[in-house]
Amino acid sequence: MNMKPATAKISSSALKHNIQVIKQKAPNSKIIAVVKANAYGHGVVFASSVLEPLVDGFGVARLEEALALRANGIIKPILLLEGFFSPKDLPIMAVSNIQTVVHNEEQLVALEQAELSNPIKVWLKIDTGMHRLGVHLAQVDDFYQRLKACENIAPELGFVSHFSRADELDSDYTQCQLSRFLTATENKVGERSIAASGGILFWADSHLDWIRPGIIMYGISPNERIGKEYGLKPVMTLTSSLIAVREHQQGEPVGYGGVWVSPTKTKIGVVAIGYGDGYPRNIPENTPVYVNGRLVPIVGRVSMDMLTVDLGINSQDVVGDEVILWGKELPIEEIANKTGLLSYELITKLTPRVLTEYI
Ligand code: PLP
Repeated sequence: MNMKPATAKISSSALKHNIQVIKQKAPNSKIIAVVKANAYGHGVVFASSVLEPLVDGFGVARLEEALALRANGIIKPILLLEGFFSPKDLPIMAVSNIQTVVHNEEQLVALEQAELSNPIKVWLKIDTGMHRLGVHLAQVDDFYQRLKACENIAPELGFVSHFSRADELDSDYTQCQLSRFLTATENKVGERSIAASGGILFWADSHLDWIRPGIIMYGISPNERIGKEYGLKPVMTLTSSLIAVREHQQGEPVGYGGVWVSPTKTKIGVVAIGYGDGYPRNIPENTPVYVNGRLVPIVGRVSMDMLTVDLGINSQDVVGDEVILWGKELPIEEIANKTGLLSYELITKLTPRVLTEYI
């Protein structure tokens, strides 16, 4: 009997496979591998060391994430995707060779006034329609001139933007954002990047000089389809094990609130994973798990450390058997579709208590 607690099994071969799929989709673009939020919950140290020989740089959200990559020996370029820095961070960024996006006046002034050991590579973020970050189209020329004139900024500028609806295949909004980006950067010297996962899969014209894959690297689709349909393999398999298999009579409730009452005599399996591990608490009835070659439904409320499943009266399952919450056998996108949560949320919400096993 092997009572393994909640464990995320992370496959380096799936990660490498997904990079090859991405390279086939965008053969002429360089790759910024997006490894923010602990590589979308997959473990940034492991993911970045597998990825470094295969990609051209890394994208993170926070300076701490960038410095952690450097501390772990990553030498390829690292970009702060959202330009999340304070003036006091700039000397550290210069010394550690961290690139940043610039999307507002305050950041540019901080760069102009800083005293740095060496210039920092900057990417001008342009708002082409997301209307979240980025300089307005009318400001692009002015920012471009000032960036070029700034001694603290490396001469090779970049331009970035971000799609807001790249996963909507029937919308012309992505094409409109792309045209705005190309027009705004026309006759300007610098490499261009606008495509993240949706752009890479669905909008070949948007690949340009650099692509920025996040979710598809981890084998997960950016929309409600399953990653496998795009040739991707899930990198994470979230597992736990049965810690009890119990006879259960018809009409008896299970768990807090007694919200599920068994319509028949059955066997209830208790699985060692709960919302304390990041498995969502509010899930609809019949959300499945995979055990011994079949899907069985979660019944009753998810508790902090456990959830309960209806194994059926004929169950031969025993304590210690592995249960898969998501992975190849049960795509995370199906859990996302069922629960109304995004796959992005599900994977990034796992808590540090979940063990990681690299395979
Ligand atoms: N680029 C930027 C600026 C982002 O914020 C993100 C993620 O949020 C990505 C790329 C990667 O997106 P995705 O995971 O959809 O590929």
